[in-house]
Amino acid sequence: MSFFEFSDELKALDKKALEKVKPYFDEIEKVTEYNQQKVLKAFIDNRVSEPDLGISTGYGYDDIGRDKLDKVLAQCLGTEDALIRHSFASGTHTLSVALFGILRPNDKVLSLTGRPYDTIIGVFGIDEKTDGSLADFGIEYSQVDLKADGTPDIEAVKAALKKDKYKMAYIQRSRGYSLRPSLHIAELKELCDAVREVSPETVIMVDNCYGEFVEMNEPSQAGADLFAGSLIKNAGGGIAKSGGYIAGKKKYVEMCAHRMTCAGVGREIGATLGHNRELYMGLFFAPHTVGEALKTAVYAAAVFELLGFKVSPRPDEKRADIIQSIILGSREKMIAFCKGLQSGSPIDSFVSPEPSYMPGYTDDVIMAAGAFTLGASIELSADGPLREPYALWMQGGLNFHSAKTGILLAVKNMKENER
Ligand SMILES: *Cc1c(COP(=O)(O)O)cnc(C)c1O
Repeated sequence: MSFFEFSDELKALDKKALEKVKPYFDEIEKVTEYNQQKVLKAFIDNRVSEPDLGISTGYGYDDIGRDKLDKVLAQCLGTEDALIRHSFASGTHTLSVALFGILRPNDKVLSLTGRPYDTIIGVFGIDEKTDGSLADFGIEYSQVDLKADGTPDIEAVKAALKKDKYKMAYIQRSRGYSLRPSLHIAELKELCDAVREVSPETVIMVDNCYGEFVEMNEPSQAGADLFAGSLIKNAGGGIAKSGGYIAGKKKYVEMCAHRMTCAGVGREIGATLGHNRELYMGLFFAPHTVGEALKTAVYAAAVFELLGFKVSPRPDEKRADIIQSIILGSREKMIAFCKGLQSGSPIDSFVSPEPSYMPGYTDDVIMAAGAFTLGASIELSADGPLREPYALWMQGGLNFHSAKTGILLAVKNMKENER
């Protein structure tokens, strides 16, 4: 029995792709199980209990669930301390709080992974000294470009750190909307070691968006002092409705807490308004959900490679985030893919995505997203600018079985469009 009409050709493609990905799925399962046990242990060790899932209002003093969740997350991420809050408005907001938490006027920050993710440009004030940016507060940004192959230039990083004094070294782990490889924990460690060797006082901060629970270790175990991410990506497990987290060394997390609310009260206030349960549950689900998203990415890579497209990462490549790029090569194919994927979404399946202008982008952008949480990219979604090389960035998939159906519908729509 089938609820969707797939041709024999498509069924054969599915079967072939599943055979191809089997060994990689086995690897993903191992990491998922390891991380799931790590999370379960953190819940048990911290004696998470029903009252912790309760509601606080007003100032939110003595919210035991909130304070305990910080400890649970810290244990999961291997850090001394952590802050996890529904009230971070986005990943960018969370990263911004962390940056402002640590940096002071006249400090210098060095990006070790080239130009950061689009939305962070404004936070640093890289292109223009916008109101409220770090540049506006007299914090100087500079960067070491990635090498031609997209990997960090460790020698250039060391040279830059020898030449000048930097308060912070900033590292972006995920590829964002580029075709550079994402940084594995092992590569992150090399980078952190290089910073420590030349400039031991420099605070190493990592943008960990899309990286949580993809590997057995987190940036803390690579030597990072502080890292942050979004809860509508990996760490929210597809359940958190909004929010972010900051994790790392105690003294730095405390500094961020005073920026998160205000100096003096820091983390002592902040009503959770009933979000505790979803944040606990999301964190509990996160390793599994990330595993499903990884399977979806690997499966999509296999399907599109079998169809003759260039994909990055390839199905057999070890992953450091949940993002899959597919180079479709034409505007028409990108649109057909997105329309097909959207038609296989649990929410808004009847909507037909169209390319359109997006603030901050020079070319039209198309996106497919039929998610329970607006903009949640731990849920199956794809987007990309309509320009050379006509690549789509696909990510998420709360459960593999549903997500793979979405991918098959994308292929089906592309095939129908060719006729
Ligand atoms: C998603 C993401 C962010 C934060 O983006 P928001 O849309 O603000 O959540 C930052 N850096 C990277 C690499 C990301 O992928």
